[in-house]
Amino acid sequence: MPYNEALTNAAQAFETYKITTPAQRAQLLRSIAEAIEALGNELLETASRESNLPLTRLTGERGRTCNQLRLFADLVEEGSWVEATIDTALPDRQPLPRPDLRRMLVPLGPVVVFGASNFPLAFSTAGGDTASALAAGCTVVYKEHPGHPQTSQLVHKAIAQAIRANGLPEGVFQHVSGGVEAGQELVKHLATKAVAFTGSYKGGKAIFDLAMQREVPIPVYAEMGSTNPVFILPERIKENTEQLARQAAASVLLGAGQFCTCPGLFFIPESEVTPHFIAALEEELTNATPANMLHDGIAGNYYKGLEKLLQAEGVQALVHQEADVLEGRAALASTSAAHWLQNPALQEEVFGPFTLVVRYSNAAELISAAKALQGQLTCTLWGSDQEHELQQKLTDVLRDKCGRLLYSGVPTGVEVSHAMTHGGPFPATTDSRSTSVGTYAIKRFARPVTFQSAPQALLPAELRDENRSGLWRTINGKLSQASL
Ligand code: NAP
Repeated sequence: MPYNEALTNAAQAFETYKITTPAQRAQLLRSIAEAIEALGNELLETASRESNLPLTRLTGERGRTCNQLRLFADLVEEGSWVEATIDTALPDRQPLPRPDLRRMLVPLGPVVVFGASNFPLAFSTAGGDTASALAAGCTVVYKEHPGHPQTSQLVHKAIAQAIRANGLPEGVFQHVSGGVEAGQELVKHLATKAVAFTGSYKGGKAIFDLAMQREVPIPVYAEMGSTNPVFILPERIKENTEQLARQAAASVLLGAGQFCTCPGLFFIPESEVTPHFIAALEEELTNATPANMLHDGIAGNYYKGLEKLLQAEGVQALVHQEADVLEGRAALASTSAAHWLQNPALQEEVFGPFTLVVRYSNAAELISAAKALQGQLTCTLWGSDQEHELQQKLTDVLRDKCGRLLYSGVPTGVEVSHAMTHGGPFPATTDSRSTSVGTYAIKRFARPVTFQSAPQALLPAELRDENRSGLWRTINGKLSQASL
């Protein structure tokens, strides 16, 4: 569908959709999940053919996609995400009376969503961005990802069917194909009120810059990736060294390294156990069976990024295999913290099964490295109980650098839940105040509006005196489920 028609339809449909009840929106989200499940194996086989991802992985991703839609349905039905807040009038207040003020979050309008190549289901057509925008009451114009067009069309069919079954206008969800130019026209269109994007730094930043040049600027929530550093402390690396290395390797290799949370940096101490850790990591990466990457463009970018990094001063290749047109062959390199600190290019993401080991000589150097980090989706801190003080110092630095700070486990595997933050300071994203995974993502597509001295009949149900559904609201500064 042409971009202009799509946005005109989305703007028209918004007039109807924005005033649907939470129950209607929850029903739509659940119907989309059911319609996706009803696509059966055809969806999984198509996605596997287009993305080279195995059926097992895609089965899990479909489950995640549908659970995500249902989680947003529950959130909308529960209702408190709108942050209903009431300050009752104080007519006798001196020197001036206070008017009755009632605030809640309302949807922004049509949202343009750019899906990701590495998650053809969970971060694409009916992925987290679409689910959270529809949950908020926004209509969606989805820009198809050229890496999985048929998968996208199938999911579009399911969404359209769910929209029809719920008696809603077709323009609630529009599907647009076309290259960079189509995407740019969608971002520039006057009807667009926000953009959500997952992909490369180059693409996300270009879209952000374009949106800022509009006569009417709009928010752009671009998730652009990260090197997801793991900090291993001197005492911790002594405990089960080989096992730690195996855990590290499994996270680097997962999905041929095509996760935005793939750990691309390991800071390890110079100590007597360092060679054992590196040798175990080397062994795991050398013996890994390579998987095909999403497409030859991604494989090409992987080997190009890798070669550039391996040519940097002070970097030694430890595992370096011949490049392939499609296979993502694992790679490992090592450098010193001193070299890493001197060369900001060593912070660039190499999207694929690669990691760079950075050896530090003391705690001060490790803290300097943490301070020099650019914004990340995740940082991971592996320390032992005896290293509380250093862990605290690093925590104080790292919490300003990332959206999620882990103290055990690996950053790959992002839970879809209420407390999740999948975001982080630039360049991980263009807006560190939000997340693209989990229910908090809904806040990206809403804005506060205050109704002052409004008649009851004109107020949204959430802000009326009578609180029939027992919604949690803040009344004169206190949380309450009461009616007024
Ligand atoms: P991409 O190149 O950023 O493309 C993502 C979407 O944005 C596509 O629909 C693309 O459109 C559109 N786009 C890109 N540049 C644009 C621009 N200047 N203006 C308007 N639209 C634009 O990402 P990708 O295709 O998924 O993968 C390419 C590279 O991105 C990978 O090799 C990898 O390095 C990185 N990546 C990172 C992550 C992460 O989470 N960190 C995830 C996926 C990919 P068209 O392609 O249709 O033109």
